Amino acid sequence: MRFANLLGRAVLVTGTDSAGATDVEKASGGEFGPDPQAVYERWDEFVGWARNTDLTEALPFDVADLRAPAPAPAQVFAIGLNYRDHAAESNFAVPDTFPPVFTKFRTALSGPQTTVVLPDGGNTDWEVELVAVIGKRAANVAAADAWGCVAGLTVGQDLSERASQLAGPAPQFSLGKSFPGFAPVGPWVVTVDEFTDPDDLELGCAVNGETLQHGRTRQLLFSVPALIEGLSRVTPLLPGDLIFTGTPAGVGIGRDPKRFLQPGDELTTYVTGIGELRQRFVSA
Ligand code: ZN
Repeated sequence: MRFANLLGRAVLVTGTDSAGATDVEKASGGEFGPDPQAVYERWDEFVGWARNTDLTEALPFDVADLRAPAPAPAQVFAIGLNYRDHAAESNFAVPDTFPPVFTKFRTALSGPQTTVVLPDGGNTDWEVELVAVIGKRAANVAAADAWGCVAGLTVGQDLSERASQLAGPAPQFSLGKSFPGFAPVGPWVVTVDEFTDPDDLELGCAVNGETLQHGRTRQLLFSVPALIEGLSRVTPLLPGDLIFTGTPAGVGIGRDPKRFLQPGDELTTYVTGIGELRQRFVSA
């Protein structure tokens, strides 16, 4: 099942080449409202309803009209140094007990196809990431039970402005990664049952068609279940929360010479089995 936010309304998406959308509020006769974020509060009930609903009347739509599938999460967790090759290119040691955690402030969230303003004087970098969307309150959840707390998976870009991120005596992860539009996600949330192996998904990104990152989520040092176990030991995870799970090697700051996004560049970001994000960059 694929769940999306079409111009602010909750929809179910069917089809691939010519995708169609079914409006949740209309199809459910008002049992579920139009707010995409509210649906996660009743996720299991919603999935049960969706499985028994006729979606053959789905209407075509423009992917550019999709917005963030979880547009107002209570919490956005982002994970650093969660792939061995990315920790190495960043000149950091591999985390042993748990990886670094920061946030992308939720005002940075956007839909899958956007134009992003490059902050003046900055070095804006790309980070493809698998994003897990939480489907029920999760406190002290064991890794073995963690997939049951996930509503689904989506694609994320952890856009990162390295000049402000690395200025000062300690890294400024959360602010440097939260400029407007720096957290595109989508195009939709795909439920976990749709994947043969949700712990082994291919992901990557390209600038102007040149592949710069390519990896598989089986290379995660801390898997989605391990992250949920570790995070939920400290803070309860809430329905509709997001976890950006970290990025593989190939970011611009890890290259020689370093490379950053320029006005006019187009960044495409994908996770196989989910879909693609597309960002165009302009100067401030
Ligand atoms: Zn990241």
